[in-house]
Amino acid sequence: MTAPLTIIGSGMAGIGLLKQLRALDAERSITLITADSGDDYSKPLLSTGFAKHLPPERLAARSALEVADQLGAVVRTRTQVEAVDPAGGCLHIGEERLAWGELVLATGAAPAVPFDIPEELAGRVFTINDLDDYRAFHAALAALGRRARVAIVGAGLVGCEFANDLMAGGHAVSLVAPEHAPLPRLLPEPLGRALGEAFSDAGMVLYLGRGVARLEAAGSDIGVALDDGERLEADLVLVATGLRPRSELARAAGLEVGAAGIQVDRYLQTSVPGIHALGDVACVAGVNAMYVQPLQASAKALARTLSGTPTEVSYGAWPVLVKTPLLPVVALPPLSAPARWRIEGEGADLAAFAEDRDERLIGFALTGACVKRKVELARATPPLLG
Ligand code: FAD
Repeated sequence: MTAPLTIIGSGMAGIGLLKQLRALDAERSITLITADSGDDYSKPLLSTGFAKHLPPERLAARSALEVADQLGAVVRTRTQVEAVDPAGGCLHIGEERLAWGELVLATGAAPAVPFDIPEELAGRVFTINDLDDYRAFHAALAALGRRARVAIVGAGLVGCEFANDLMAGGHAVSLVAPEHAPLPRLLPEPLGRALGEAFSDAGMVLYLGRGVARLEAAGSDIGVALDDGERLEADLVLVATGLRPRSELARAAGLEVGAAGIQVDRYLQTSVPGIHALGDVACVAGVNAMYVQPLQASAKALARTLSGTPTEVSYGAWPVLVKTPLLPVVALPPLSAPARWRIEGEGADLAAFAEDRDERLIGFALTGACVKRKVELARATPPLLG
């Protein structure tokens, strides 16, 4: 009989692994432990819900109870694992010591907020990284009962998608970021500027090249003081300044952890036998791609490994489709800095090719009408993890 399995985390990685495992093994005892509601939902839908005025319950495909029932697992929700004890083979949950047979860490990534949020602004400054966060922000918008002025801090994928989505939902959006153009990690600057122009043309106010010095309560308004002395007022602030792998449990347990997450090999095996990791928290053979396709491939490979067929994970050349309908964007950022970006196109329809010193394609970025080239270019780009 196979050892009982415990998975920490009910995001797309944890539940994805559970689904894949059940397809291979109907009998194994599996426990899923999660700090959140345990609802099965697609995180990418969070940044498309405000345009459609979707209530949080419409984003959850099934409840934790349904997950437990349909996938034959014990699901413990609102349960924070405080420590992993590899020597004792148990988890610490308050006073409880819960033994595991094999353990999988799928603890995701948490928002990194680079400035203090004054206590009096609680309930008006948000991050949105899970369905509970979406619930809270959705309730704050509803409580205002009118078109909200939302200041979004951070112009990465999450900031830009929410900016576009909230604009489409009828709100007044300002976007603040220290970089000079949106999506700095995905796009070379001319393509980022094209997205910025599409945002401005739609009425969004961009404060680029400037960071937030502090947030202040100003009656029912929030004062957002920028580091160049300018100040804007908002009803709500959404902070989207990046995500950091939630690797504290692993680090405290003595597993190998780097800045990009828990170090695992192509079998998703951590430095401690019997403990695996996948999803946003895992750095797989040096690559931490915080997207859905890599975690789905990892879930599939790990399910096979845990069912007795050791299987290495591979990642293809999978581009990221950024959900900014104001200007469609697709990007496959190169794993290492390119020797040059070669850019073609006109207006907002741009194609940028990241090339190495030998003029080989190692990544690309596309905007507007050029996004239709994504399949052809992905075929010509090396895999993320071949
Ligand atoms: P998470 O979803 O973060 O899950 C982590 C789980 O671990 C949670 O259940 C949490 O409660 C639990 N947990 C953590 N610590 C503990 C603990 N100590 N005890 C118990 N439980 C714990 N990717 C794409 O490919 N395409 C997109 O269009 C896209 N859009 C996105 C839009 C947004 C707004 C965001 C935020 C991300 C988007 N992504 C997208 C990225 C993608 O959604 C993530 O890579 C993926 O959802 C991560 O899943 P995960 O299971 O690894 O982590």
